[in-house]
Amino acid sequence: MDQRRAPTECPRCGGGPRVAEILYGLPDFEAIEDDLAAGRIVLGGCCVCEGDPEWACEDCGHRWGAIGSFEPSAEEVAD
Ligand SMILES: [Zn+2]
Repeated sequence: MDQRRAPTECPRCGGGPRVAEILYGLPDFEAIEDDLAAGRIVLGGCCVCEGDPEWACEDCGHRWGAIGSFEPSAEEVAD
């Protein structure tokens, strides 16, 4: 599973590749300076809760994905 691979397009508007990774917490600004300027990274705030979105569309503002490993259980899906 390569869950960390960035999506190449937005599931809502289909826009791409302007999809940014949402970073939470206090990032190392020097390390992500270029990515921030290029729009590959957006800041999500200093707190992250399970289920917060992981990706952001630069075109329509849609945010999706989920931080962490939370996924609906197989039982819930199958029932
Ligand atoms: Zn979009």
